[in-house]
Amino acid sequence: MTPKGRKALLLGSGELGKEVALELQRLGVEVVACDKYHNAPAMQVAHRCHVFNMLDPVELRRIVELERPDHIIPEIEAIATPELLKLEEEGFNITPTARAAWLTMNREGIRRLAAEELGLPTSPYRFASTREEFDKAVAEIGIPCVVKPVMSSSGHGQSTVKSAGDIDKAWKEAQEGGRAGAGRVIVEGFVDFDYEITLLTVRSVSGTTFCEPVGHIQVNGDYRYSWQPQPMSQKALEEAKGIAKKVTDALGGYGIFGVELFVKGDKVIFSEVSPRPHDTGMVTMISQDLSEFALHARALLGLPVPAIDFYGPSASRAIVVEGDTDCVEFGNLEQVLAEPGTQLRIFGKPEVHGHRRMGVILTRGDSVEEAREKAERAYSNLKLEI
Ligand code: AMP
Repeated sequence: MTPKGRKALLLGSGELGKEVALELQRLGVEVVACDKYHNAPAMQVAHRCHVFNMLDPVELRRIVELERPDHIIPEIEAIATPELLKLEEEGFNITPTARAAWLTMNREGIRRLAAEELGLPTSPYRFASTREEFDKAVAEIGIPCVVKPVMSSSGHGQSTVKSAGDIDKAWKEAQEGGRAGAGRVIVEGFVDFDYEITLLTVRSVSGTTFCEPVGHIQVNGDYRYSWQPQPMSQKALEEAKGIAKKVTDALGGYGIFGVELFVKGDKVIFSEVSPRPHDTGMVTMISQDLSEFALHARALLGLPVPAIDFYGPSASRAIVVEGDTDCVEFGNLEQVLAEPGTQLRIFGKPEVHGHRRMGVILTRGDSVEEAREKAERAYSNLKLEI
């Protein structure tokens, strides 16, 4: 808050942004949080906030020119990224790069970069904008296949076609669930993986550093459980690191990336990448000396990441609330937190309409199994009142 002090503009103020805001403030950075609604989690800890539609390029530019931040940090995908490209050209600093935010905003951009330019292994895929193209795409890819709007996250509009009877429903769901409303979809061959991981990859002045692989389970495309480290063969881990290095080098800049990969035996397939902290990586709040948020803050500020200290097997359990309410009560916390090695984060989101991730339980154990069981015990003790 001085002429020389660093100022960061957070585009997106969810639970991940909240942790980034806290880590930036630990390093003395002034944080301005933005989102489309009031009292978003990161706004509750930021110095200042702005509420506006970040998909609107005029509004986005107005706020950037008003604040003139040293760092613009996208926390979500739904941002007018073409405007970020222009702002970067004018000299603003976008984390990790405007092109990374732009390419990953749309599944088509990142998939074509990974598969067609970088030659990384991915599931077979087709894109479709009309029902006709969609039927053709499903026929070419074959059943089972996974259908997703090109612009969506957290499983919105995503479904799996298991038989011909699911085709109509999958099209409808994708048309209703996309971020920008009806539109283009990706049809992907269903990957019969043994497990999936997020390989958190940091690009900093110190070079590229990897966290221990994060294993996770998704329900309808939304993460529910994650743990670290995911046991992997040496060969699969090396392959995963190779893919992560290639894709993050292609995106460039400084920051953390969540590289999502499917693994079968020793074979690794690229799925997608977030050029920012990843929801499954919340486990690093308990498993590492520098969480994915601390790493992001350090890296984007141009500070070194000489090493990451991993504390041992850990797990996270997302707290997803369903209903229609502006008053969620978290009860029985004495029991939830009764066991050693258990922590809780409540994000402070003001309301729920449908289902929403409202908190997370974090645990450590002697093994991944023990950490996961502990997280489940803590979760089963939680009494949610809506
Ligand atoms: P995404 O939003 O693309 O990360 O997809 C969310 C989740 O859906 C992934 O983490 C997987 O569990 C599942 N999924 C996505 N694409 C595929 C695929 N092609 N084959 C099998 N499962 C998939």
